[in-house]
Amino acid sequence: MRPLRVCLAASEVSPFAKTGGLADVVAGLGRFLGRAGHEVRIFVPLYQRVAKSDVETTPLEGAQAIDVKFPGRTIRCSIRTAPLPNSDVLVHFVDCPELYHREGLYTDDGDESLRFAMLCRAVLDTCQRLSWSPDVVHCNDWHTSLIPLYLRTTYHWDRLFSNTKTLLTIHNIGYQGVFPDSQLAAIGLDDQRAHLHHGDLRDKRFAFLKTGVLHANKLSTVSVTYAREIQTSEFGMGMEELLQTRSSDLVGIVNGVDYGDWDPATDPLIPHHYSADDPSGKAKMKAALLQRMDLPHNPRAPVFGVVSRLTSQKGFELFADSIPVFLQREDMRLCVLGSGESKHESYFQWLRDTWPQKVGLYRGFHNELAHWIEAGSDVFLMPSRFEPCGLNQMYSLRYGTPPIVRRTGGLADTVQAWDPTTREGTGFLFDEFSSQALAGTIDWCLRNWRDRQGWQQLVKNGMQRDFSWDRQGAEYVALYRDLCGL
Ligand code: ADP
Repeated sequence: MRPLRVCLAASEVSPFAKTGGLADVVAGLGRFLGRAGHEVRIFVPLYQRVAKSDVETTPLEGAQAIDVKFPGRTIRCSIRTAPLPNSDVLVHFVDCPELYHREGLYTDDGDESLRFAMLCRAVLDTCQRLSWSPDVVHCNDWHTSLIPLYLRTTYHWDRLFSNTKTLLTIHNIGYQGVFPDSQLAAIGLDDQRAHLHHGDLRDKRFAFLKTGVLHANKLSTVSVTYAREIQTSEFGMGMEELLQTRSSDLVGIVNGVDYGDWDPATDPLIPHHYSADDPSGKAKMKAALLQRMDLPHNPRAPVFGVVSRLTSQKGFELFADSIPVFLQREDMRLCVLGSGESKHESYFQWLRDTWPQKVGLYRGFHNELAHWIEAGSDVFLMPSRFEPCGLNQMYSLRYGTPPIVRRTGGLADTVQAWDPTTREGTGFLFDEFSSQALAGTIDWCLRNWRDRQGWQQLVKNGMQRDFSWDRQGAEYVALYRDLCGL
């Protein structure tokens, strides 16, 4: 079978531009595809923070001064590239300072729709410039969701794309890229209203993600359970009916983990290494983490870790009526790394101020500390309201830090309930989204923590689970081949 030409378009890629799991997935999948011999080009914007960092990018020959034409306006971009670390795959940065040199990756600016419509157009215009005909354009989340429609309309005439198929992966249905329909003209879709979601247009708006769902050849999401959930009103965020109409084209593929970055045996970001066969370094990591977070060390007191965006998705409101009880009663530690909504940040600050000997907090984004918390904690807390896939619970399994998770989305697919009788399982799960259910599970976890032999087995079970891209990436390749008939 011949290698495939895969164009991977996204708004984030690790380590260059990351706010969450999407960045890790794009990098991990890209690396896997490169290793497997496929021809891959990853496209992301050249954000200000990348342009101003010490990342060295070089102009891509043949892809300079590309004039992308929108109605009444031409926007010029050029492509600069840098190799994806630990890979031969080239990341193609769309260099367009007027759109991408802003404070953050995402903005509330009036031209946010244009910023990402431009990304979609720049990907396709670059393919034209390079005379590169992708077998698959793999779009990710709302930011690149207009590509399938542009291919059917603006680029329909170009035979370069006549065999190109599109796959749209939904990493989080909570972000749909919804804008007033008055912005359609600026992105060149005003005369394509017939191809947009009619209900939205009646409400004088349009959504990137819905447009992608309407026009991509295939759809996927990042776990089997989430693929089912988003077709229900509880999780579909208003898109459930549309997704039901495309049910036969929608599959779930659990994200892979890049063990090159996330393995305690080799992780360059942690000072003490360990593995399932020799876990002794974990106790040292626990001591190091507590020292770093300025908390007293007691090997018998369990350390609970949190690394997360602090948004309502992640379920931290369940802490209010559960965690203080445990902090009051138990000799335990809680190490939190996160940033996001101020109500959650303030809540964790309050916990820190109230139990300064038990709670450590870092408000912000800190990749190295994320690795330390995975390695130095005994239990990982992830009580998500919904979770498309979730990476942190998979990282925590590999780092010997059994997770407490709610049985939803990818958490349900990747964590298996610990059963002390059979000594099978990798973590602790609860179903109902309530503080009582979480508290009951923390209680159950603490009882098992005291059974030291059982706990060692639980840790070992998790460390031996394999979610590597070699497994998960092969599922994407099978999907691409099926899509292209290759
Ligand atoms: P999501 O994509 O919803 O944020 P995931 O669990 O899929 O959740 O992925 C989160 C990724 O972002 C992980 O790699 C995690 O380590 C990282 N992360 C989240 N918050 C922070 C933070 N404050 N500092 C460093 N890394 C973080």
